[in-house]
Amino acid sequence: MSDIIKLLPDSVANQIAAGEVIQRPASVIKELVENSVDAGATDIRIFIKDAGRTLIQVVDNGKGMSPTDARMAFERHATSKIKSAADLFDLHTMGFRGEALPSICAISQIEMRTRTADSPIGTRLLINATKVEKQEVTSCDQGTNIMVKNLFFNVPARRKFLKSDNVELSNIMREFERLALVNNSVRMSIDTGSRTIDLKPGSFRQRIEDIWKNSLDTHLIPIEVDTALIKISGYISRPEYARRRNPLQYLIVNGRNMRHPYFHKAVVGCYESLIAPDTQPCYFLKFEVNPDSIDVNIHPTKNEIKFEYEQDIWPILQAAVKAALGKFGAVPSIDFTVDVVPVAPLGKGKEPVQPSIDYPSDYNPFAGTPYSSQKNYQQNNFGKSGKATSNWDTLYADFMRGAGEKGESGSGSLINNKNLEDEKGPQQGVIDGFKNNDTPENICLQFADRYIVTTSRDGLLIIDQRRAHIKILFEEFYTRIKGEEHATQGMMFPDSLIIDPSQQNALDEILPELLKIGFRIEYESENRWSITGVPSFATSLDARDVVMRMIERVDDAAQNYGKEGNATDQLISKMALVMAQSAAINYGRKLSSTEMESLVTRLFSLQDPSYTPSGHKIFHLLETSTFLSLFK
Ligand code: ADP
Ligand code: MG
Repeated sequence: MSDIIKLLPDSVANQIAAGEVIQRPASVIKELVENSVDAGATDIRIFIKDAGRTLIQVVDNGKGMSPTDARMAFERHATSKIKSAADLFDLHTMGFRGEALPSICAISQIEMRTRTADSPIGTRLLINATKVEKQEVTSCDQGTNIMVKNLFFNVPARRKFLKSDNVELSNIMREFERLALVNNSVRMSIDTGSRTIDLKPGSFRQRIEDIWKNSLDTHLIPIEVDTALIKISGYISRPEYARRRNPLQYLIVNGRNMRHPYFHKAVVGCYESLIAPDTQPCYFLKFEVNPDSIDVNIHPTKNEIKFEYEQDIWPILQAAVKAALGKFGAVPSIDFTVDVVPVAPLGKGKEPVQPSIDYPSDYNPFAGTPYSSQKNYQQNNFGKSGKATSNWDTLYADFMRGAGEKGESGSGSLINNKNLEDEKGPQQGVIDGFKNNDTPENICLQFADRYIVTTSRDGLLIIDQRRAHIKILFEEFYTRIKGEEHATQGMMFPDSLIIDPSQQNALDEILPELLKIGFRIEYESENRWSITGVPSFATSLDARDVVMRMIERVDDAAQNYGKEGNATDQLISKMALVMAQSAAINYGRKLSSTEMESLVTRLFSLQDPSYTPSGHKIFHLLETSTFLSLFK
């Protein structure tokens, strides 16, 4: 057999290698800005077109490159930053691999102008997918001005892999936030075509304020510790300002933004019992350690790091965070556990507003006159059969029948039903009793502060209260949103909304839809918006929570919530789900018997009560036969 192994042409090898370093427009920005920082720039400007698809331009006032260096910079493993392996252990620059520029030029078209301080004229270089097309002298400012055009133009598969402009833009903004935070003494600006942010050089604290504006205000506690092993400085958030979503958590090690799950745990652990379990503190921490005690080499995109003295740093870090929390009186004042019924491993935390299950005030679950969902119940449940669970529709027939018949007593409270107290009938027999309307089979009990337990013809039904409510509200909101008219109910006290730069694009995308369904959201200043109205069919909603949840979901393009169909349909179901999740009762919430009955009746009036829109099981049936065998 003849030899079959061949070396890949450089252009292919470069494209493959580029995949490691450059995943999306945001990665190009990271690499270019870090090069500018390494070149000593004090002013870095970024320009973006079409979310980075057509143009990413970075202009700096750094030291620039000579004509030869400008050409060399695009060769693989060409770097001015290290000379030998030993230098790897004493890194003072962001880059060192010499991989970024060759990778970027393999998958785009580049135009670069650069000039050093000691040269009166600069160099202009045109590169098209690795191929140098032109190199000439030019007049330009000192520093480097690099334009990356048509990213992935020659790798259609990767181009297709890019997300929507909004998602790519929020990735870009998140990267910009990170870079701007780390390099607080550099003036940094970004112009995305639709928005410009311009950050003046300033202290670390000032930079935090400038990037996230009012969202942090006075919520930060300084932290400062200096030991032989490590110097830790920066800010942590007061427990009251822990965020349910999008917590700002930054760890900067020797000037590099890093992810470090172990130290993350150390910090977050200090907040345990101070904050609700589903929230996270914000932190902006800077570590300074001896460069030879860390290894930044373990990940190609260089945001993971290994510490030699990890376990020795842990207690120092924890002590520093705890001391800061204690010094600023943050420790004992929080009472998140008050009111939260002990549902330890399952419970979520206290919700700011406990929404109630709304049912018409005159609704009597036992009355013969059916409330609308009861009507549906009869149409749906006796007309068609649900598909997800086998004959669930008959499961609940007794509850409904019993409810109707007992209606005459009109009390509305099953707990007081005389059948419970009246001991006249033990002789009626349990087994028969399941078919006998005189037995208290519609009693609902709350169990473990999260389940509603009730009986049905076929056994014991255990219903997850929150999931049931989410499903009911989802169906209701979905129908309402799909409907034509969307009235707005003004809010007496508008909710203010702080939008981080990285969230702005997501808000832009959903804003028209939110307005269409009846939200009123007004721009105030910079990153501040205010919600002045909510859809009149959803007045009990925590408007801010809904909008923030929606913003998050935009990034989550892959999610599909059960409603199939076109993009509009999917957006509507997304909105309906977010609103339902926000408005639904939580675990730990005590329910009155009327509320439980209302929930159960409404749940089983739905066409498919078995699963939530996100696919979670809503109820479980423990069959009578199981019990019978237990008591043999
Ligand atoms: P690395 O940053 O790992 O050295 P890069 O491919 O990012 O590798 O850059 C290659 C080289 O090009 C750098 O080592 C540096 O000498 C030079 N360079 C890149 N960008 C700039 C810039 N903005 N200003 C001056 N020199 C630069
Ligand atoms: Mg670099």
